[in-house]
Amino acid sequence: MSEILVLVEHAEGEVKKVTLELLTLARTLGTPAAVWAGPGITPEAKARLAEYGAEKIYVAGADDIVDHVVAPKAELLAQLVAGKAPAAVLVAATAEGKEVAGRLAIKTDSGVITDAVGLSDGFVADQSIFGGGINVHSRVRKGTPIVAVRPNSTAPVAAAGAGTEEEVSVTLSEAAKAARVVERVKQEKGARPELTEAAIVVSGGRGVGSAENFTVIEGLADALGAAVGASRAATDAGWYPHQFQVGQTGKTVSPQLYIAAGISGAIQHRAGMQTAKTIVAINKDPEAPIFELADYGVVGDLHQVVPQLTEEVTKRK
Ligand SMILES: Cc1cc2nc3c(=O)[nH]c(=O)nc-3n(C[C@H](O)[C@H](O)[C@H](O)COP(=O)(O)OP(=O)(O)OC[C@H]3O[C@@H](n4cnc5c(N)ncnc54)[C@H](O)[C@@H]3O)c2cc1C
Repeated sequence: MSEILVLVEHAEGEVKKVTLELLTLARTLGTPAAVWAGPGITPEAKARLAEYGAEKIYVAGADDIVDHVVAPKAELLAQLVAGKAPAAVLVAATAEGKEVAGRLAIKTDSGVITDAVGLSDGFVADQSIFGGGINVHSRVRKGTPIVAVRPNSTAPVAAAGAGTEEEVSVTLSEAAKAARVVERVKQEKGARPELTEAAIVVSGGRGVGSAENFTVIEGLADALGAAVGASRAATDAGWYPHQFQVGQTGKTVSPQLYIAAGISGAIQHRAGMQTAKTIVAINKDPEAPIFELADYGVVGDLHQVVPQLTEEVTKRK
């Protein structure tokens, strides 16, 4: 079977969960080959990639690759596409991944699909568009399919691959080096998982009532090991930081479980969460549109329902 290149997302030597998802997906379509861009690969990272099915691990460990924003990664992948003739290239549909995908498509004269939530035989990608109102199935007709897949679209499943390492050296063009990274500032991270990567997200909306009341949402999130999200009504009111807004003008999440508390389910909110595998809505209005979308609904006051849920979850741990 032909190789499927998977661009590894990593930070401080650790492989991000989305990469394990992409390897799992790649296994269904060909032979997964991980591409590690930049220095700092560790034995643990290699073991992790092999554990999830990487038969090959291409390592381009030069500092240059990460010193010049995203262009070098696109050049690295373009070189591998030319040399290895993979059946497809998968990247994570993050801001960086999508930029790499676009640049790679230009360099290899190929078609690109972004924000895929599934990929099946013949590299037919599923996308959920126009605020989720329409599901699209599309396929690249030219060159090597380049597909940016949304985090959390596939559950990562381990299945050992050989993990054979191959060093790759890339000669970067002057154009790729036009912008230089001069400083990296580490974002302070809380104990909760990153919103776009979390398997469970608990979100609060206007129904939460105040910034202080968000501790109710945080309590359930912490009991479930989940990330906290918010509707735009809640972030605009200053109850929760904007970086946690879910929706059309916020983050797109696709977790296994999404709990919406005190959120009406406006189309712009749905756009960011409707590909969640299971949706639970808690709302005191039985007519709230979120119930049309929810797999499970609780009609009630979230200030009563959520603490009870938190207590039950905590008891079972
Ligand atoms: C261009 C554009 C982009 C937008 N982008 C986004 C976006 O990215 N994300 C986003 O979320 N919105 C976005 N919006 C706003 C969107 O249209 C809605 O206004 C917003 O999602 C509403 O948030 P909400 O559901 O929290 O509030 P509301 O619509 O006011 O709903 C609050 C809900 O809480 C329920 N409730 C109240 N009290 C309780 C209680 N005690 N217990 C249980 N339930 C209770 C109510 O019954 C109601 O259903 C956008 C709008 C526009 C025009």
